[in-house]
Amino acid sequence: MVDIPLLLVKSANDSESQKQIKISKEYEIAAYRASQRRDFDILHTTLDLAFDYQNQTVLGKANLLIKPFNYPQRILQLDAQDFEVDKIYFSAGTNEQELVYQYDGQLLSVNLPEELTAKDTFEIFFDYVAYPNRNSGSGSEAITDTKGLYFIDPLDTIPNKPTMIWTQGETMHNSKWFPTIDHPNERFTQQLNLTVIDSLVSISNGELVSQQDLGNGFRVDSWEMKLPHAPYLVALVIGDFGKVSDSWEALPLGYFVEKGFEKGAAKVFEHTPEMIGFFSKLTGVDFPWPKYDQIVVRDFVSGAMENTTASIFMEELLLTEREAIDSEWDYIIAHELFHQWFGDYVTTESWSNLTLNEAFANYSEFLWNEYKYGEDHAKLKLIAETESYFAEAESKNVDLIRFQYASDEDMFDSHSYSKGGVILHMLREYLGKEVFYEGLNVYLKANALQSVEVHDLRLAMEKVSGQDLNWFFNQWFLDKGHPELNVEVDYSNPENILISVTQTQDLVNFPLYQLPFEVSWYADEKRFSKEFFLDKVSAQFPLENGIAVGQVFFEERKNLLAKVSFEKSAIEYQQQFENSKIGISRYEALDSLVSIEAIENLELIIGKALSDDFWAIRESGLSIIQGNTVWLEENDELAEKVLGMADADPKNSVRAGAIDALAAYNPEKYQSLFKRLTNDDSYLVAGSALMGLMAEGIELEEEFVDRFAEEINFRIVIPVSDYYITNPVAGKGEWFHRNLDSLSGEGLYFFLGYYAEYFSRFPEDGNSEAVVNLLRIAERDSKSFMRLGAFQALLAFADDAAVVKELERVTALESEEELKMYFAYFIEALKPEN
Ligand SMILES: [Zn+2]
Repeated sequence: MVDIPLLLVKSANDSESQKQIKISKEYEIAAYRASQRRDFDILHTTLDLAFDYQNQTVLGKANLLIKPFNYPQRILQLDAQDFEVDKIYFSAGTNEQELVYQYDGQLLSVNLPEELTAKDTFEIFFDYVAYPNRNSGSGSEAITDTKGLYFIDPLDTIPNKPTMIWTQGETMHNSKWFPTIDHPNERFTQQLNLTVIDSLVSISNGELVSQQDLGNGFRVDSWEMKLPHAPYLVALVIGDFGKVSDSWEALPLGYFVEKGFEKGAAKVFEHTPEMIGFFSKLTGVDFPWPKYDQIVVRDFVSGAMENTTASIFMEELLLTEREAIDSEWDYIIAHELFHQWFGDYVTTESWSNLTLNEAFANYSEFLWNEYKYGEDHAKLKLIAETESYFAEAESKNVDLIRFQYASDEDMFDSHSYSKGGVILHMLREYLGKEVFYEGLNVYLKANALQSVEVHDLRLAMEKVSGQDLNWFFNQWFLDKGHPELNVEVDYSNPENILISVTQTQDLVNFPLYQLPFEVSWYADEKRFSKEFFLDKVSAQFPLENGIAVGQVFFEERKNLLAKVSFEKSAIEYQQQFENSKIGISRYEALDSLVSIEAIENLELIIGKALSDDFWAIRESGLSIIQGNTVWLEENDELAEKVLGMADADPKNSVRAGAIDALAAYNPEKYQSLFKRLTNDDSYLVAGSALMGLMAEGIELEEEFVDRFAEEINFRIVIPVSDYYITNPVAGKGEWFHRNLDSLSGEGLYFFLGYYAEYFSRFPEDGNSEAVVNLLRIAERDSKSFMRLGAFQALLAFADDAAVVKELERVTALESEEELKMYFAYFIEALKPEN
């Protein structure tokens, strides 16, 4: 067959619109973020590193084994940000010589002795000093999360803060501390020889192959990675850590935490072996590396990072044994662990394809939850991911895989993470579990120790499913937006109900989707369902249900990423709650009744909600009761039920919810129960019980409260603070200062207001020290929400002109624009009206 060429007759002069088209097409080419072109391949990296704590510098010797990738090369370019570089040497066989180089502070351009080809392997070695705290590359001194290597309290001057060093390479920050080709499509084996103070522990990628005592108070730890990985996954941690050893089959596992927290770590990370077994079985690829360490550090710049064999976590995972009873960190542990396959073993070739790392890591949280805690629990998290994407989509609509973005950091968003994970779930539901997992196996094996782009995933899934999947990948991975669906049901023939689905999204900017979906209904207590496929703007589907039914469900299992508008009345939601056998659907019904304030319907089903198998429904039910305590007054049976749950519900968060409900209803009546439950092992339960005792009308002895004064968990510290403030009890200044020092994360954030309030009531107990401490946090804390919390707390001292002056100074220093605006707004509000 021959196509007839289409002849376009063009006018001599371009119209304005054609000019615009030219400009925009040129821009598209110019702005395209291609994968890094591979001129060279680093085969092996050897680093000898020592650390100057005084000056916060890294003293390095680098030796890189390199070859041209495929074309002949004369000039080698290495990323080396903010170094001072000594003489650079070249070595290949007997040829050893010093090389000429240019260095602009970011890129080292080294003139090779001659043109070298892909057959030539050579070594480059040199000494350098790295200055991670310099920021010449970012253009801003204020950016603190691009240091690559971080010295925490290097001279041990901050109370209760241990000295440590840790690294954070992603995206391209490891070249702040060693020279490399800092792109994710590079891969090398490595040896890191770390000179450390001999009382400290080091952790790095791969295996610890030797430890050499230097006899001068220092030791050299040699860490070797025999399998190649990407530069951003190189990591080290040095500090005074305790280690918990564990194993999965023959694989050694280590959980590293500050000393004294080992028992907590054993509990926080206790599911690691089971997770490794689960993921190995699921993918058909055993954990691909020789060991797996998990390290909890201070002041980490994100939640956690999946460095190969050495994941680093934020300090929120630093828990005592008792705190770890209610640990809910499985999801982040699963996330980093799954990255060891998806991200580390098979790596995105560019940040444009970041979702190939993050979608899998996010989806692993669902997979683990589904396996360990059941489908309902897993779905709850999946819905939260969907919501997080929808929230972002209000203001950001970009292709999931995108080749144009302002900065790498823009890729780390709810598209790459949440939307990506939900899309993988839809793919699994469409292909079926077995085929999907087989596809993962094919994908991992075909691309082992290599970098990938999205088509590699599609090809693997096509291979196992025998289906062309371009339609799925094009609409979800390579385009933007999501379907918006209008669903209507015609019940006029109850034996053959008609369901109409219409896509209402803007088709100029977003795709017309092809969507598999499920419709379900109940008859004689049995669940029936049918699968349909929408590939039009609008279509009508007959259910041919046979037995007459009064209610059908669209996507009852919530597998579809879509904004669905499906109008339901309160009675329909009530029936949904009463009839659905799907936990997440009952949860949705309860939630919807709350949002439409259908109090009467809620009252009818509240008893059933408290008996639901799904803990999230019981928890919701209790929070609904907390706002409608009159039900407990009128209904003894319901009150008895809540009372029983406070003691015996299998989930501690539900028990705490029951205590909160009773405290909202009649704290005096239940005070003996609360007193008993303050001794519960769970801080969630004990904290709620103690808070219940802080209610007005309860006479509490100071000795009773003082029993809890040594507790460091914020769930106890907060009610004790409340007691000292409201009663009030003078002379607790030291206690407040001590807790400010020892709390961190969310607990510290909640505490800040109490802390300020106490000292504004009892200035003689140390208010000037309190102001200094709060200013330190407002000015220097690495987390912006904490700086905001401290700033707001300081407003309690705003009648002091000197404090206001300090607040103005902090405002001027603040680097985050949005926060700076808040600060300025607060200061403005302090000024007397003119
Ligand atoms: Zn991740």
